[in-house]
Amino acid sequence: MSGNGLFSLTDEHEMLRQAARDFARNEIAPIAAEFDETGEFPSETIAKMGAMGFMGIEVPEEYGGAGMDTLSYVLALEEICKADAAHGTIMSVNNSLFCHAVLRFGTEAQKDKYLRGVASGQAIGAYSLTEPMSGSDAGTMRSRAIREGDHYVINGRKSWVTSAPVADYVLLFTMTDPEKKHRGISAFLIDTDQPGFARGKKEPKLGIRASATSEILFEDYHVPAENRLGEEGEGFKIAMSVLDAGRIGIAAQALGIAGAAYEHSVAYAQEREAFGSKIGEFQGVAFQLADMKTRLEAARLLTYNAALAKEKCKQTGERFTLEASMAKLFASETAMFVTHAAVQIHGGMGYSKELPIERYFRDAKITEIYEGTSEIQRMVIARLETGLRIT
Ligand SMILES: Cc1cc2nc3c(=O)[nH]c(=O)nc-3n(C[C@H](O)[C@H](O)[C@H](O)COP(=O)(O)OP(=O)(O)OC[C@H]3O[C@@H](n4cnc5c(N)ncnc54)[C@H](O)[C@@H]3O)c2cc1C
Repeated sequence: MSGNGLFSLTDEHEMLRQAARDFARNEIAPIAAEFDETGEFPSETIAKMGAMGFMGIEVPEEYGGAGMDTLSYVLALEEICKADAAHGTIMSVNNSLFCHAVLRFGTEAQKDKYLRGVASGQAIGAYSLTEPMSGSDAGTMRSRAIREGDHYVINGRKSWVTSAPVADYVLLFTMTDPEKKHRGISAFLIDTDQPGFARGKKEPKLGIRASATSEILFEDYHVPAENRLGEEGEGFKIAMSVLDAGRIGIAAQALGIAGAAYEHSVAYAQEREAFGSKIGEFQGVAFQLADMKTRLEAARLLTYNAALAKEKCKQTGERFTLEASMAKLFASETAMFVTHAAVQIHGGMGYSKELPIERYFRDAKITEIYEGTSEIQRMVIARLETGLRIT
């Protein structure tokens, strides 16, 4: 954040941000284009991020994490995403969807078994809510878990699971009582090395290509009842509560992508000449830069504010849904606005794979889709504001 802003960072925040920035510039930026091209999972850099504490930033040290606050998580994720949003996706799912869920809803035994490895980056965690026939409308999911004594038997197909091709553990949401719809969903911690679990084909994607995404398949998979997270039927509530945390991560990711595109655009506008002037001297370009910067800073304020709201709620146990949804909605639309303008400012070079601008443009789009589309964020915000049942 530049200037004398509302948010003052502590020395600890500044140090963490600098460490993330140096790591992202030195280790991630040089390989980002190659991994985007091949779609290969960046295991080596992710392992290094684990060693630096980036895979479980808010998890207490006793459970293998870095024991820092939500703003630290946002600052580090923003820097990682400036270099490569795909690394950011893997980091964000690990931190705010898997670790946050186990920390918030897990028993001591579950934390002991599932949190330590994932928070320290030695194991990878995934979150699986979506199915081929149920995305925004999670209550229509078709996968099933049927209780048999001290375990459940799971059957079904889940889709679009980030990190699934490499995940050691998956937080799975599945139906235990289909009659009850949303209230019939339960959450389970799944070991991917057990019989009955299979990974489907990797999805070829427009952007964040190095973050592996695939279907996962369950065929008579036996999960002990002690692996259920929360009570039977509490899965939907847990899924939504965890997405509050996830959405702050996606807002930070959008900030990182937009920030990188903006900085490149300023530099290009200062150098590139046309009609005997720097292109930045044309109002048509300069005003675009002004709008990019203004929206970026507004998105940053909403995102940091959501981080502070989450931090406060750690004490009270309250939800921070409104702050998280507004940050995600505005930051993701800002990322699209800024990267679209960045391609335009770079002209033909914006369209070339010789520069990262086209990658930023492709990567930005996902932030408007996953962890609740922009339409779903608007529904959530409007529902909270009006108390009406908006569909
Ligand atoms: C790269 C990638 C990674 C992903 N990772 C994960 C993951 O790790 N775990 C996971 O569980 N899921 C994941 N997802 C799934 C993602 O969360 C869903 O794609 C998203 O929630 C939208 O669901 P859908 O694709 O089924 O779209 P649909 O729900 O079918 O929506 C289609 C369109 O209709 C609109 N729409 C739907 N309902 C309404 C309404 N009531 N009012 C107005 N408009 C509406 C939507 O906004 C959208 O524009 C991932 C998706 C992608 C692309």
